[in-house]
Amino acid sequence: MPAQDLDQIVNLCKRRGFVYPSGEIYGGFRSSYDYGPLGSLMLRNVKDAWVRTIVQQRDDVVLIDTAILGAPQVFEASGHLSSFSDPLVDCTVCKRRFRQDQLDERDCPQEKKGCDFTEARAFNLMFKTHAGPIEGEGATVYMRPETAQGMFVNFTNVLQTSRKRPPFGIAQVGKSFRNEITPGNFIFRTREFEQMELEFFVPPNESARWYEYWCKARKQWYIDYGIPAEMLRIREHAKAELSHYSAGTSDIEFKFPWGWGELEGIAQRTDYDLKQHAEHSRQKFEYFDQATNERYVPYVVEPAAGANRTMAAFLLAAYDEDVVNDEPRTVLRLHPRLAPFQVAVLPLSKKESLTPLAKKIYATLAARYMCDFDETQAIGRRYRRQDEIGTPFCVTVDFDSLEDDSVTIRERDTTAQSRVKIDALLTEISQRLGDSCT
Ligand code: ATP
Repeated sequence: MPAQDLDQIVNLCKRRGFVYPSGEIYGGFRSSYDYGPLGSLMLRNVKDAWVRTIVQQRDDVVLIDTAILGAPQVFEASGHLSSFSDPLVDCTVCKRRFRQDQLDERDCPQEKKGCDFTEARAFNLMFKTHAGPIEGEGATVYMRPETAQGMFVNFTNVLQTSRKRPPFGIAQVGKSFRNEITPGNFIFRTREFEQMELEFFVPPNESARWYEYWCKARKQWYIDYGIPAEMLRIREHAKAELSHYSAGTSDIEFKFPWGWGELEGIAQRTDYDLKQHAEHSRQKFEYFDQATNERYVPYVVEPAAGANRTMAAFLLAAYDEDVVNDEPRTVLRLHPRLAPFQVAVLPLSKKESLTPLAKKIYATLAARYMCDFDETQAIGRRYRRQDEIGTPFCVTVDFDSLEDDSVTIRERDTTAQSRVKIDALLTEISQRLGDSCT
């Protein structure tokens, strides 16, 4: 059964080295997190899985990587400087600040006593800093609040160099920054986070069709990587909720322990961004279709996902507790491609005679897969640890291995064990992982 309580995941992440509160030795730094040895592998796997589906397995999407620091002109044109804000209210009783659209009732959500809120005022979420040694208006730069603008301002560069034509997409994975009023729920909402965004440029009359296509395709991606369909839903925004640029937006939501929360937004951004940048930069952002002799500004359908939130969802959905040989265990039933390690090599004993063979096996497997090597503790406890961090297979090297050239493979999900020849080990592991990991 998936985790019912966020703390189950928060504790596991801390205990096993997935995620630590940032600057913990100084008391933590305001809802910031550091990704440890396992969390950084898993976060990378989430991003790689996205790139694999969105870029590698398609011939109509290219990947770019643009600057985090941006000139004010970019965000002036995009509308972020004037309208990228949340409604901020202060409570005059408990002195806390809240996002008005997140208050269910006029009651301070934390104190549960009659609070008194001020009128809402727009609070801009952009992080502002300055470039160079002199502070001042001319030196102001902004840290991007989304990766999307990097794709729009490079539209012509990419069109000219990539030989793509609409419908085609520009994808990017990278950090974004928002001065959130109320960060929280672990890595769900932080001020620094990673996005996985696709700007898909289409002929204007195809926008609605591609919007439907991407809503379906993106929901399926989460299912393919292990989230049960009943923990996902698509929620279409009401007209009043739409961003200033959107002709239609749907969120893919996940059933978090505290309720439904957004993993990804899919928006029909129309030609808003390209037109804004064309006007502000006085450059043309058009596509000339030689087949039809038509010149047009493409419309954009944007699936925009968050890597950290998605990682939290994968962890929550994969979390399970069961009983093996009368002993309770915690197991992360992660998709093999998302698990930090695909295989762990475990010499049965620390005795030196096993080490050279175990290291040799490790080197063979590590050439293809991310592997762990662990020779501490009793074997049972090591299996439990690998279960808890989601490793699909353990390979145990024992004293018989020195005689019969065989090792034991143990499966995470069933705990079933079988003996295989060392020569056949890589093929066997590859077959069992199937094409989920090739
Ligand atoms: P929310 O309504 O939760 O603030 P949003 O609608 O503003 O999110 P988008 O601008 O659509 O979010 O960004 C796309 C994705 O980026 C979101 O679906 C989410 O996964 C991720 N994201 C946005 N803000 C944050 C944040 N503060 N922390 C972590 N991930 C975020």
